[in-house]
Amino acid sequence: MSGYLTVVGLGPGDPRYLTPEADAALARTQALYGYGPYLDRVPTRAGQSRHASDNREEAARAAAALERAAQGARVAIVSGGDPGVFAMAAAVCEAIETGPEPWRALDVAFVPGITAMLAVAARIGAPLGHDFCALSLSDNLKPWELIERRLDAAASAGFVIALYNPMSRARPWQFDNALTRLRRHLPPSTPVVFGRAVARPDEQVDVTTLDAADGKHADMATLVIVGSRETRVVIRPGKPPLVYTPRTAVEVSA
Ligand code: SAH
Repeated sequence: MSGYLTVVGLGPGDPRYLTPEADAALARTQALYGYGPYLDRVPTRAGQSRHASDNREEAARAAAALERAAQGARVAIVSGGDPGVFAMAAAVCEAIETGPEPWRALDVAFVPGITAMLAVAARIGAPLGHDFCALSLSDNLKPWELIERRLDAAASAGFVIALYNPMSRARPWQFDNALTRLRRHLPPSTPVVFGRAVARPDEQVDVTTLDAADGKHADMATLVIVGSRETRVVIRPGKPPLVYTPRTAVEVSA
């Protein structure tokens, strides 16, 4: 049998969020590649090798996995959430485009997973119930000025904004800077959801407002959803609040 590469989304953490298709793809794999903590989520199976690499080594990981598949192995690369959302799928496509000719002849498949913004949204109601966009606040692969321009455009156009990668030890100021930027366009009362480690044992989901939000609430495992002018919070007695964005929009401009 000839080799192939499957890029598999593991979902946000809880094995119940792993799709049957992803589980089946992992089961028929001979060599698993991925960031260590993601590989740790994959059940151990006899005869499989594991190749953990650091978070920032995506291009090298993609190349190593493609090379192994080109040699005839059944290979999988894993990503948390969905592999197409700020993750390995694009790194694999890029390696195929720019790498050696035999890589372009390989069988490659992409298995979707539940991405963090959907897992967080489901915990709190329907914040993504109307038009929304997703932005990574990491300026490792793009200039900060571009992120600011996209925040301005998204907030002023009335999108709910899902913020991936809000904060890390290497990027301590970006998130507060982004909030300052968003406050230029949105009212202080705009709902903001912080979903931390959702679908993992230490999950925490909090709702606050744009004026009260700050970087202390966020870390590498947090996904932040900033509402639009339409987003509403429903307070319920003895129950957590519901955050939702109605399906009808009335504002023409922000
Ligand atoms: N491919 C992943 C995203 C990778 S970028 C996906 O589709 O979810 C990494 C960022 O995703 C983190 O900084 C955080 O913002 C978010 N994230 C990943 N898993 C999460 C979880 N379980 N809970 C909250 N946010 C999460």
